[in-house]
Amino acid sequence: MAFGIGNTATKNAGSLERKTKALAASQSKSSKSAAKIWRSRISWRITSAVFLTIMTVQAAILTLTLEQKEQQILNEIQEVGRSSIAPTLDQTTKFLDSPLTQEKANRLISSTIVNGLVIYTTDLLPLGNYGEPAAMVMLDQDSLSKTYRSTDGSSYEVVYRPNDLARPYIIVARLNSDGVSKQLFQYVQQTILIMLLMSAFVTTVLMIALGYWLLEPILFMRDNLITASRSPENPKIPESPFSPTDEIGGTIILAQKLIHQNAENMMQVRSAAEDKIHKLAYFDTLTGLPNRTLFIQKFTEMAFNVTDDKSPRIAVITMDLDHFKDINDSMGHNVGDAILRGVGKRLRTSLPDSAIVARSGEDEFAVCMPLSTDLNNGRDLAEKVSAIVKEEPFKVYNENFQVRTSIGVSTFPDDGKDPNDVLKHADIALNRAKEEGRDRFKEYTEDFDKAVQARFQLLRDLRDALENEDLTIFYQPQFDLRNGKIIGAEALLRWFKKDDSKEGGKYISPAEFIPIAEQSGLIVPIGEWVLLEACRTAKKWQESGHEIRIAVNVSGAQFFQSDLVGHTKSVLKETGVTPHNVELEVTESVFMDDITIAINTLNELHELGVELAIDDFGTGYSSLSYLRQFSIDRLKIDQSFIRNALTNDDDAAIARTIVKLGHSLNLKVIAEGVETKEHEKFLIDEDCDEVQGFRYSKPIPQDEFWEFLQSYNGDLSSFGA
Ligand code: C2E
Ligand code: MG
Ligand code: MG
Repeated sequence: MAFGIGNTATKNAGSLERKTKALAASQSKSSKSAAKIWRSRISWRITSAVFLTIMTVQAAILTLTLEQKEQQILNEIQEVGRSSIAPTLDQTTKFLDSPLTQEKANRLISSTIVNGLVIYTTDLLPLGNYGEPAAMVMLDQDSLSKTYRSTDGSSYEVVYRPNDLARPYIIVARLNSDGVSKQLFQYVQQTILIMLLMSAFVTTVLMIALGYWLLEPILFMRDNLITASRSPENPKIPESPFSPTDEIGGTIILAQKLIHQNAENMMQVRSAAEDKIHKLAYFDTLTGLPNRTLFIQKFTEMAFNVTDDKSPRIAVITMDLDHFKDINDSMGHNVGDAILRGVGKRLRTSLPDSAIVARSGEDEFAVCMPLSTDLNNGRDLAEKVSAIVKEEPFKVYNENFQVRTSIGVSTFPDDGKDPNDVLKHADIALNRAKEEGRDRFKEYTEDFDKAVQARFQLLRDLRDALENEDLTIFYQPQFDLRNGKIIGAEALLRWFKKDDSKEGGKYISPAEFIPIAEQSGLIVPIGEWVLLEACRTAKKWQESGHEIRIAVNVSGAQFFQSDLVGHTKSVLKETGVTPHNVELEVTESVFMDDITIAINTLNELHELGVELAIDDFGTGYSSLSYLRQFSIDRLKIDQSFIRNALTNDDDAAIARTIVKLGHSLNLKVIAEGVETKEHEKFLIDEDCDEVQGFRYSKPIPQDEFWEFLQSYNGDLSSFGA
């Protein structure tokens, strides 16, 4: 801190030096602060208050002394009058004669302040009257103590007694008192001047004292606070030049202490926040492992840490826990989290320190490790990691969970000079491993990249196809096996992809582009378009007298990511098709995602009046118990069972069981992939309700289907032996 308190001699010397410097600094500032003092409002307020107080007190004193002063002047006039009259009185006058001759009286009146006088005996007998007549008349002894002042203040009448005159007379003298007011005025003027001078002096001294003892320290403290508020973390405030022993100096020291403490606190809070942000930004909170960002940073450091003039070769794997989502959904997130923590911990403790282990995504981990004599290639690392995870099950709440992994492997610099690319390539290899059935590892090769590029291109083209209306719908008829009637048609999407060939393009199989559309979400607008188009067609057929139910495929993504019920409702309204003539085909996968949403959505769809079928039945979720919970109308036996029914007993048994199961639940059963008369016969024997397949017709364009409808004679045997 900038203001430590020294307790040794050296410290004292240092402190003295500092104080001298501070004093010098403060002197150089004094001219500035002098200017500030005169501009300071608080100084002016205090000073004005003091000035006014002094003035008021003095004014009060003046008022009190003014009367005294007047009396004093009048007394002086009285004395002058007495000393003018007394010597003129005759010493030898007889009893009842005036002691003043007219001539003396005239002289007296013309040359002194005496304007007139009346002379009485001690018994108050008037002896003579001279000059201006007096207003006062002596009638009794009480009158002797009175004086009289004319209203205009020009004359003052007094009574002189024998004692005053040293003669046995009483004289009432009328004296000229013109000068009294003037003298009084002068007195007031002088006093006020003195008061003003005194007040000015006192206030000036006060102002200067205020400036040095109060204002300057306050301004210093204010400057400190402004500096601190501008840069609270690093306030550059000078040492206080004021004595810390008085209240203000002490306050300044205290404020400076607080400013420095605040700065320290802020620094601490900031560095703690930075640590926290760093942790959040670079570490996974669940496992405590680095996240993908930090992984790439560390991997990059490792990759460019050149030793012996060579960059190291590094194996990189990204790893995904197989069916983790199922565990999470069925057993709850606590179990999922515990497994993730367990995997992270096991990887970290089992792999050497030279390996970087990170959690790179929800159920994804990434590891990189320099190749060495112990680790020859990426494949070794993948096998090691796979073994670590699989070596024994993870125990959570006393239950064992056997975790398996899919792993993608790539190597730096063989699979990319940029660590980001190498990691991306490991991800591509991981996807390949997952596609090939999980619980395996796959090493990256350039072909993968090409396949990924091709997929992206296909997705772009598909998006254009949707916009340019290059998508069409083919229809494949469905028949009642018992009476041979056409009862429905499945709407199957076709994409005519234009190219430079002489045919102008070719049809791309939905099996190729539907999965890509599902992954990208593009299936939602595509599916909505198919439903609208198919319903329009159904309506057209309906109007021409063919009550044909149209079956539309709905993918899982469409089921969960869009408002399927709302859209179906508006399509029914827009096209006016009978809801009963529309069937939605969903696969068993929708029941695996979220059973509650699935139940609710199917019920709401059923309430709209549309029929519901489970497509590719038998290939998905093994438990059949859920079937009762759904409002469905039809099971569609997957074509693989029909194809193999005649050669494989298991598949025949499955097909047979599906028919029985459907009937036991009051559902219709339709078989697809019926290619031959033998298939048909098998299904008739098993009492299947409906059929669809190449034996009757491939999926065909709408106009061809129309012709098919016109030409079909209602007899299944017309399709040949
Ligand atoms: P899916 O719904 O099971 O459709 C039946 C598939 O079997 C169709 O293939 C059809 O051409 C084919 N097929 C019908 N009879 C026979 C037969 O006797 N033998 C053989 N080998 N195959 C037969 P397609 O048209 O290539 O469609 C493949 C899949 O693409 C469909 O399987 C369906 O899952 C999906 N798909 C087609 N159109 C759409 C659509 O509009 N939306 C959605 N979400 N998926 C669609
Ligand atoms: Mg289908
Ligand atoms: Mg199918």
